[in-house]
Amino acid sequence: MPEVSGRKRRKVAGVAIAPGETREIYLEVSQSYTGNPVRIPVHVEAGKKSGPTVLVTAAIHGDELNGMGIIHEILFRGPLGVRRGTVVLVPVVNVFGFETQDRYMPDRRDLNRMFPGRENGSLAARVAYEFFEQVVRSADWLVDLHTGASGRTNFPNVRARLRDPGVKQLADAFGAELVVDSDGPDGSLRREAARAGVPAIILEAGEPGKIEPTVTEVGVRGVMNVLRTLGMVDGAPVSPRFQVRVRKSTWVRAQVGGILRFHVSPGEPVDEGQPIATNVSLFAREQNVLVSPAAGLVLGMTTLPTVKPGEPVCHVAIPSTLPKTLREILAGKRAGGLAGRVRQDFARAVSVTEREEVLPPAASEED
Ligand SMILES: [Zn+2]
Repeated sequence: MPEVSGRKRRKVAGVAIAPGETREIYLEVSQSYTGNPVRIPVHVEAGKKSGPTVLVTAAIHGDELNGMGIIHEILFRGPLGVRRGTVVLVPVVNVFGFETQDRYMPDRRDLNRMFPGRENGSLAARVAYEFFEQVVRSADWLVDLHTGASGRTNFPNVRARLRDPGVKQLADAFGAELVVDSDGPDGSLRREAARAGVPAIILEAGEPGKIEPTVTEVGVRGVMNVLRTLGMVDGAPVSPRFQVRVRKSTWVRAQVGGILRFHVSPGEPVDEGQPIATNVSLFAREQNVLVSPAAGLVLGMTTLPTVKPGEPVCHVAIPSTLPKTLREILAGKRAGGLAGRVRQDFARAVSVTEREEVLPPAASEED
């Protein structure tokens, strides 16, 4: 990856960082009703030699804790031993939402649609502005950590705008089993950071409100891979056993109200027409079977077993090709590795049964 440092001062959140220094900085971004400062905690570890600045952010959605867990695990292991460049870790960006276990800001805005922010804008726009100006602009690379939204889980996947060369380099360095090639919405941190010249990717993994052990492993591996690829810390990057890249994905939606019995789990390969879930009535009568519209990989799923018509059930990623060997690896028949363990973990988040087991005995319907 190219050396991009030197054009940027090693100043983070307004604080000049000396070579070899490790620091905790509290960046004031707002105030509470009582007038107390609301501050974003920022951990900085600088190497003795100059080099790139890598920024890792989490909990821009305040209830998405897996990213915080990933950063925690990195810090828990002790100093990174940064040899060159600077690592900036921000475990919680949306400190308001984090305190109230809420995805959003107190003004109900989505912080991840407010970047690069406005100095004199709304509450959320101001927080976004301060963070973007003081922290994001000082970085050369950005990894932003997310989970699925409430009631959903995602098989760990990196989302990246792959036609942007810097972003592609970063996605390659991170090393994920599943990469979704997408631009990202306007106002999202990764889109706006990239526009401002800071290549950015996100990891979408797991559910909100949890720290999931295998997601932590995936995230730590990815962040360390980036630092190792850039030569900032010792050690060789660890490549995933396989990688699937997709541009297309589709949601399978409920047709009628009822209770779902799932037949697939996140990360599982599916064929066109393969049963995804059986929708049964409250009295356990089969109503219909939802099937995958295409061959692909289960990217995400609802974790709520109750559905109304039109509600999303399963997010299927559709790769242009899914070679047979890859399919076998994905199906876990060939020693699953980390991805296999993620799948086992996630299968416990929902009740997954074989299709045959679901069929209830025929009952005579009483009117
Ligand atoms: Zn998020």
